[in-house]
Amino acid sequence: MRYDIIIVGTGAGGGTLAWALAQSGKRILMLERGEYISREPENWSAGAVIRQRRYRSNEIWYDEIGRTYRAPTHYCVGGNTKFYGSALLRFRRQDFDKVVHAEGISPAWPLNYSDFEPYYTRAEWLYDVHGERGIDPTEPAASAPYPHPRIEHAPRIAQLESDLRELGYHPFHVPLGLLTHQAGPERCVPCATCGGFACFLHAKADAQIACVDPALKFPNVTILTGARAVRLHTDASGCVVTAVEVMHGDERERYEADIVVVSCGALNSAALLLRSANSHHPGGLANGSGVVGRFYMRHINSCFVAVSHVPNDTIFQKTLAFNDFYFGEHDFPYPMGNVQLLGRASPESLAAGPLTLPPDVSVDDLLKRGIDLCVMSEDLPNPDNRLTLAADGSITMRYSENNMRGHLRLISKLTDTLEHIGCAPYLIETPSYCDRSNSVGGVNHQCGTVRFGTDPRTSALDINCKAHELDNLYVVDSSFFPSSGSTNPSLTIAANALRVGDHILEKWQ
Ligand SMILES: Cc1cc2nc3c(=O)[nH]c(=O)nc-3n(C[C@H](O)[C@H](O)[C@H](O)COP(=O)(O)OP(=O)(O)OC[C@H]3O[C@@H](n4cnc5c(N)ncnc54)[C@H](O)[C@@H]3O)c2cc1C
Repeated sequence: MRYDIIIVGTGAGGGTLAWALAQSGKRILMLERGEYISREPENWSAGAVIRQRRYRSNEIWYDEIGRTYRAPTHYCVGGNTKFYGSALLRFRRQDFDKVVHAEGISPAWPLNYSDFEPYYTRAEWLYDVHGERGIDPTEPAASAPYPHPRIEHAPRIAQLESDLRELGYHPFHVPLGLLTHQAGPERCVPCATCGGFACFLHAKADAQIACVDPALKFPNVTILTGARAVRLHTDASGCVVTAVEVMHGDERERYEADIVVVSCGALNSAALLLRSANSHHPGGLANGSGVVGRFYMRHINSCFVAVSHVPNDTIFQKTLAFNDFYFGEHDFPYPMGNVQLLGRASPESLAAGPLTLPPDVSVDDLLKRGIDLCVMSEDLPNPDNRLTLAADGSITMRYSENNMRGHLRLISKLTDTLEHIGCAPYLIETPSYCDRSNSVGGVNHQCGTVRFGTDPRTSALDINCKAHELDNLYVVDSSFFPSSGSTNPSLTIAANALRVGDHILEKWQ
């Protein structure tokens, strides 16, 4: 059967687009290399998830000097959103403009915040975001309230909020995509196994729950799981993608459609385009500019535990963030980034990598009194931070950190608050959630490898995320980002997929 559209990948980008197009009546096929995550006790087991890496891919990637490592990512229906912390923030208005950082330039997007605003609002409703507007001074204007009220802080975090306010900061409630409002057992019970874990209750608004499953209720929408796209084929002119070649189990199959959307995540989408090189596109599909695979970004994330003087009984901790240094301060007029709480550390997460403890602090202290934080700064697009293909076609990663001045300054600002917020005067770096120790690890916030823009010489996609060089090829995952901002990426990916969805619907009319 020939489809009107094939969407490859069912994460934040692909899943959202499938939902956006489902009501069109068009024949839609989702191709997903992973399977559904089984609902099983292991969903919530730190031992299974962190120690045994039960849900992690077995794929092997290479680093720039040819060492192999196990791909630090997940392939499943819903993509990486199955494991995300569902912190769903908008990029700030200025993130769409050219911004001067201490160590370089964050380039302007070809569209403004106002172009994305209506889609952010729709994405917040689609992903059941809980939040409160008007607290964070960096928050951009919104055309509607959040669909659900904020998730309240636990007592220790409410104290932290009040201490930060006393310092003149503007802590706000992290906007979170959770299903707290439905009746019955599938209702969110804010728990300690949210970020990094698949939700056993199906009460996290991930791409499967919010988009893929609802889209599949329409008879015109189908999904093929265990179907890894290995190559895109073009017609004789090289201008039209005609088929997606797929490994489905051990079988090699071909699926044809009028429109093909690649949404495999920033690394796998670029890899698929590079693997699809042919005589018309010798450097890879959509890659006349040579940008495909380049400008890879992933945020500069550092994770810490602050040791509270009093016990921290919080179970669901990911409720507070502050952006007071997002754009800098009086004597450092450069962006530094965002500080947000993480889920509580577990014995397994603390054992997941090197942990250096002061002599008077034990792991038990961290478990009983720790407050877990992430400092997130913008990673600047660098053409040499890139993926290429190894001789066997595997992903090869090359990445070196940049823009550390703002990041280190933000860590030092956070450290300065510690005594005032009732904690020991040092931060203990934790490796579990956002490992920066391995230069090519930490792909959670991957983006930028198939950037959009108005100039085909410097971008692969046009402003509708259609390849400049192909009539019917789109990319809607985080690949399209020309810069990464300092907020979690998923809401922007979902908003963009809704925007591209409107463009495709218009085309069909
Ligand atoms: C532990 C963790 C916590 C996170 N927390 C947050 C958070 O709180 N807030 C936030 O905004 N973001 C968070 N993120 C990041 C977020 O999950 C990603 O930014 C988002 O999922 C990216 O969406 P995407 O569509 O680009 O790719 P993905 O969601 O990764 O989707 C890609 C899809 O393509 C499929 N695929 C890949 N290759 C192929 C192929 N060749 N053929 C067929 N299918 C293929 C994959 O299986 C997957 O379904 C977190 C990520 C992780 C891992």
